[in-house]
Parts: sequence; C-alpha cells; structure tokens
Amino acid sequence: MKEFFQIIPYLTCRRILNLFAYSLSIILSKVFRRPVLMNHPYGISIESAATCNFSCAECPLTERKTRRTNTFMSCDTFQQTLSTLMPGTFYLNLYFQGEPLLDPKIDERITVAKKKKLFVSISTNGSLLNKKMATKLIDSGLDKIIISIDATTAKTYEQYRIGGDFDLLMENLDTLVQLKKKKKSKKPLIEAQMLVFAFNEEEIPAFKTIMKEKGANIIRYKSPQFYSAKNAGKDMSNIAKFQRYKKDSDGNVIIENKTQGICKRLWHTILVSSDGVVPICCYDKDVKHPMGDISKQTLGEIWKGKSYMQFRQNYLKGKSANICLNCAK
Ligand code: SF4
Repeated sequence: MKEFFQIIPYLTCRRILNLFAYSLSIILSKVFRRPVLMNHPYGISIESAATCNFSCAECPLTERKTRRTNTFMSCDTFQQTLSTLMPGTFYLNLYFQGEPLLDPKIDERITVAKKKKLFVSISTNGSLLNKKMATKLIDSGLDKIIISIDATTAKTYEQYRIGGDFDLLMENLDTLVQLKKKKKSKKPLIEAQMLVFAFNEEEIPAFKTIMKEKGANIIRYKSPQFYSAKNAGKDMSNIAKFQRYKKDSDGNVIIENKTQGICKRLWHTILVSSDGVVPICCYDKDVKHPMGDISKQTLGEIWKGKSYMQFRQNYLKGKSANICLNCAK
C-alpha cells in the first residue's frame, strides 16, 4: 500500500489508459486464445550491472556465468533504451542479474531516469550501501530499494549469501534509515526481502519484528527459484506457500508444468540486458530467448515484434518454451 501511494504521482492520464488497455488485452487474449496486444509494457527492467561481488547458491552469475559481453551497460545503450521508452511505461527496475551498486554510474542513471518521470527501483545485496552510497541514492531521487537480507542471524545469512557480512549489512541498513531521517526524505522506500528456504523459515516471525524496528517500510517473503529438483529437495521451504515445486509420493521434488492460462509478464514488462539484447522475461537470465536488440530496434518494435508475438501465441496455445516449466510466474 505504501508503494501504491508513492506510485500515484507517476500515473498520468496516458499511463492510466495504458493500464486499462493492459487489462483488456489480458482478458481478450484469454478469451480468444490468441495474443491481443493493445498496451505498452507498464514496467521495464534495465540491467545496469551484470556482475556481482557475492557467490550465492542458485544465482546464474555464480553457477553458470551469464553470457553478456558487457559487465556494465554502456551509456549509449542506456540512453538508447530510455529514448525509445513507450509512453505507457512508468515503473523502472534498474537491475536484472548482478549487483546494481557495483555500477559506478548508478546514481547518474537514476537521476536521468527520474527526468523521464519514472518510478525507479533497485534490488541490492546491500553490501556496498555505505554512507557515501546511501547519500548518493537518496539525492538521486531513488523511489525504492529492495535489500536482500534473508535472515536474522549471521549464521543463517551466510548459508546462502556467500561473500556477505551480516553485521555490515545491518550497519548499512541503519545508515540508510538514519540518513533518510536526517534529510527528511520519505524516499527510497526500503523493502527488506527474505527468500524463504528450509534453513531460514523459522526466522520468519523474528525477521518481521526486527526489520520493522530497524525502519524497513515493506517486508516481503519470496520463494526462491531452483535450477534442479535435487537442490530444491535439499533447501525448499516446508511451508506450502513458499514451495514452487511439489514432492511425489517417494518424497522426490518434481518440477511441475504450470503453464496453463496466461503469463501476464509477457504483457506488462519488458527487459533490456546489459548488452542491449531483450530477453523474454526476468527468468531468461542467460538470454536464451532474445526478442530483439536495442541497438537495432526501438523498444516498441521489439515489444510488438514477430518473436515476442510468437512467444505469446505459443504460450496461449500451450506450446510454451522449457523456461516456462520452472516458473511460478
Ligand atoms: S518463464 Fe515463461 S511463464 Fe515464466 S515469466 Fe517467463 S514467459 Fe512467463
């Protein structure tokens, strides 16, 4: 709700009409089982950095290395992306894979995006969120910061966030909260995020209490994505709502095909990788399904292009790609 109120000022008439067009497109696509696209994406993710200082398990950067040619998005690609932004788009996730605070130009990019009247959000591991960085982020006008915290103790935290320092993270969170108070700034909204695994699920109640006390505005629990049934069997939460996968009668984890219906992400958000190539969605971490290239086409051409429409069509006809089989949408 807090986020909703902060988004309201970004909703121009054009953008509100686009939201209606989005809802109508979803309904008609479901009814006719063919893609009807009358809207622009209301969201965009731009990968400013495709590198990270952590080695978390289950992260594609750790496990397989993503196939980007650029570690950081070039200024030209960033400008090109923003210059072809569609009028209905108002929500910018300035991250995809990688740690955005490693990008030396992150605050400049936020400032540029704010001039386009975008709600700007980043997601970070928080390790580089020292006083200098926190000051730059607040001054840039950043609207929201998602911090991956995952635990209430160093012992639990370090099981997944390999390379992280829990005490430093708590210190950085305190610094950001104090600076916001000092500058009398409501922004950025701070979202404390917990990926729920079997090894940290007991800390859920304490996480809420501690993060509220520390000054987080939003507390969110998410189920992690696993790349193999074996890993899921080991670490998947025992709490049903945080399980993306089911166990068979022998206790083995099975990845279900959940591709019935419609995938709304194909209608509401477009992504641009650090190379300028557009993957199908945020689960396409290695960009195995390129929909276009921002150096050759505009965002609008890619959004309505043959590849994107064919992917939507296939999904609606139940012929979705393998990537969709391991997705909770
Ligand atoms: S993986 Fe498939 S189902 Fe999941 S968000 Fe992407 S397109 Fe949609």
